[in-house]
Amino acid sequence: MTDVERFRAELIEFLERELPRQLGELPPPTADYWGGRKPELPHPSSRRFCELMAERGLTAPSWPKEYGGGGLDKELAKIVQAELRRLRLPLPLIGFGMSMIGPTLLQFGTDEQKREHLPKIIRGEIRWAQGYSEPNAGSDLASLQASARIAGDDIVINGQKIWTSYADKADWMFGIFRNDSGGKKQEGITFLLLDMAQPGVEVRPIKLISGASPFCETFFTDAHAHTRDVIHGIGRGWTVAKALLGHERTMIGDLFGAGSRARQTVAGNPLADLGREYLGARDGQIADPVLRDRIAQVSMDERCFALTMQRSTDAAKAGQKPGPESSIFKIYGTELNQRRHELVLALRGPQCLGWDGAGFDDSELTQTRDWLRSRGNTIEGGTSEVQLNIIAKHVLALPD
Ligand SMILES: Cc1cc2nc3c(=O)[nH]c(=O)nc-3n(C[C@H](O)[C@H](O)[C@H](O)COP(=O)(O)OP(=O)(O)OC[C@H]3O[C@@H](n4cnc5c(N)ncnc54)[C@H](O)[C@@H]3O)c2cc1C
Repeated sequence: MTDVERFRAELIEFLERELPRQLGELPPPTADYWGGRKPELPHPSSRRFCELMAERGLTAPSWPKEYGGGGLDKELAKIVQAELRRLRLPLPLIGFGMSMIGPTLLQFGTDEQKREHLPKIIRGEIRWAQGYSEPNAGSDLASLQASARIAGDDIVINGQKIWTSYADKADWMFGIFRNDSGGKKQEGITFLLLDMAQPGVEVRPIKLISGASPFCETFFTDAHAHTRDVIHGIGRGWTVAKALLGHERTMIGDLFGAGSRARQTVAGNPLADLGREYLGARDGQIADPVLRDRIAQVSMDERCFALTMQRSTDAAKAGQKPGPESSIFKIYGTELNQRRHELVLALRGPQCLGWDGAGFDDSELTQTRDWLRSRGNTIEGGTSEVQLNIIAKHVLALPD
């Protein structure tokens, strides 16, 4: 038996025998678990599932063992993902710790910072929010004004962030704050981590068009952080902020790539099934030829994108950092997701425009809200126009 075969056999033994023995019923593939001090449980066994996986480094298979990761190479890490998918288990833990600040700490953190924060991320103990955008600093992020005043080891924070996703559920924030307004706007920015459970931090949820309130305004009034939680040095935060955006854009692109991958693994084609259900079939084919074409096109594009994202995920596991090409994934993945929602809308017609009431079933009502939520995909993590600017400048080297 080779090492790879032994690893797979031990993993399968653990996933198929040990987990059910310890957990009873296992969480379904849709049970996204974000962790944190006050975790929301999408399934009764989600938390324990995360803990058992974390004990073996399997919440972050490719992160170094010394910080609690699995220390696995690309090939073995891929086996973990494949086996979870095969057994229809969810990832044990998701969130901005895993996808954004964790990889950034691995890149820029000191050993002390990694030892302090990475194990808590890997075990799902701390949930993170991202404090970047401000009312007057979105696309032009470097214009941010929320301030960080350094006073010895203490940092005093004042100002406002906006669109802080899930800030009302998060325990810690990673964010960028201005420590000096003297030089160029990209200078004098400090990237730091702060505990949100303190009197100087106030979070107010914002209600969105979809009816949900997952985004917040976050106000700081003499809030405190510690200089040991400054990443890459005071005033040098812009470099870190940009690197993290690369991870964020890859994550957003991958979200839709992974969604597509998951759809490829279910038998048949869910879009085609919807087409048959709402439009009827003629000679075994979806009755409307124009919508049939659109279904075929979106399905093929999803398949291609899923494969492209898989290649990029493999490269990331091999240690390649996301570059400006992550902007391409971000644009393509988000626009593809919006095209899918528009297509489902066309298939279901007025049944996809319900808000509540007996005339619509649950999946139709959910679809209406998901469609509205998808409008934000091409804004969050940097708008499509901004991604096009990045691609023009840094990928295609076009003149300004
Ligand atoms: C669902 C969602 C979740 C989010 N989560 C977070 C979060 O957790 N943390 C966080 O910090 N932020 C978050 N954001 C904020 C997001 O990063 C900003 O909304 C985004 O960067 C755009 O900034 P803005 O809203 O200020 O728009 P603006 O920057 O004011 O842009 C307005 C319009 O002008 C265009 N534009 C601006 N500059 C240029 C340019 N140079 N060239 C061409 N066109 C341009 C834009 O494309 C856009 O169409 C989230 C946003 C959304 C929608």
